Amino acid sequence: MTQPVLTVNNLQVTYFTEAGRVRALDGVNLTLNPGEKLGLVGESGSGKSTMALAMMRMIKPPGRIEGGSVVVDGVDLTKLNDEEMREARLSRISYIPQGAMNSLNPVMRIGAQMRDAIKAHKLAPDADDIEKRINAALVSVDLKPTVAKMYPHELSGGMKQRVCIAIGILLHPKLIIADEPTSALDVVTQRQVMQTLDSVQKQLGAAIILIGHDMGLMAQFVDKVAVMYTGRLMELSTVQDMFTNPQHPYAVALIKSLPNLNQRGVFHGIPGLAPALLRLPPGCSFHPRCPIAQDICKAQVPPLEAKTPTRFVACHLVEKIKNEK
Ligand code: SF4
Repeated sequence: MTQPVLTVNNLQVTYFTEAGRVRALDGVNLTLNPGEKLGLVGESGSGKSTMALAMMRMIKPPGRIEGGSVVVDGVDLTKLNDEEMREARLSRISYIPQGAMNSLNPVMRIGAQMRDAIKAHKLAPDADDIEKRINAALVSVDLKPTVAKMYPHELSGGMKQRVCIAIGILLHPKLIIADEPTSALDVVTQRQVMQTLDSVQKQLGAAIILIGHDMGLMAQFVDKVAVMYTGRLMELSTVQDMFTNPQHPYAVALIKSLPNLNQRGVFHGIPGLAPALLRLPPGCSFHPRCPIAQDICKAQVPPLEAKTPTRFVACHLVEKIKNEK
């Protein structure tokens, strides 16, 4: 049986603000096998980026991980000391943050920036090996090795984003998290960057978590989709099931809100706004916007439960919805 490369168990992140405690992640569970691609979707503030930062142990005060575990390739990252965690970044788990291409140092050549990333690790190979790795990483993202001699301003947006992916894979991580890797890129470049991520993932056999809003991009790229809302997972299923037969009312509304060629000009928004995390409603946090909410929804938080081996849903009434379909 395949061992999961990632197991997130009951992960909880809280921000301690002057206005009170904000539970940004509330007991998230997730499993990912080697080579799997998961899309993490949800509205702004739903906890997608917090989830990535928590897995990387990059939550800054006043936030902190309050509980749970993040096991990557057999090692619980929440138990590592700071030095061990620094080593785990890039070698076990790698993060390509939103707007990564703008984080390249404008006055350093690309090769020097890649060299620095490798040398920050104890596992760093010798000088010859470092150059080989830099060349191999650039080639695997479809860039010429000569890019190592260039400065960021000499590269297009798509090339810079591919450099960031190359840096992310220098030490062959088992899990790559890409946070909106194609935002601010035109559609042709978006496609090229996604194809690059896809080919890199296949070469490494790594698992990928793709964070974003673009459901069209998700449909083409990922195997599984997890829908987040107010720091909780609402539904996790295969991409096919999510797009053809979503079950959680929020997932249903999200899919319905996508433009549809058969109903041109008709847009279905999701009524209301997501609640502030400081003032979450009791019970199911989606109940003020849910068209089928009942009394139990206002009183009890629905747990995320397996409905089939590949489908998990957090809704009190999901069986009822299924029977009525
Ligand atoms: Fe709607 Fe109730 Fe399900 Fe929440 S638990 S999504 S309010 S039906």
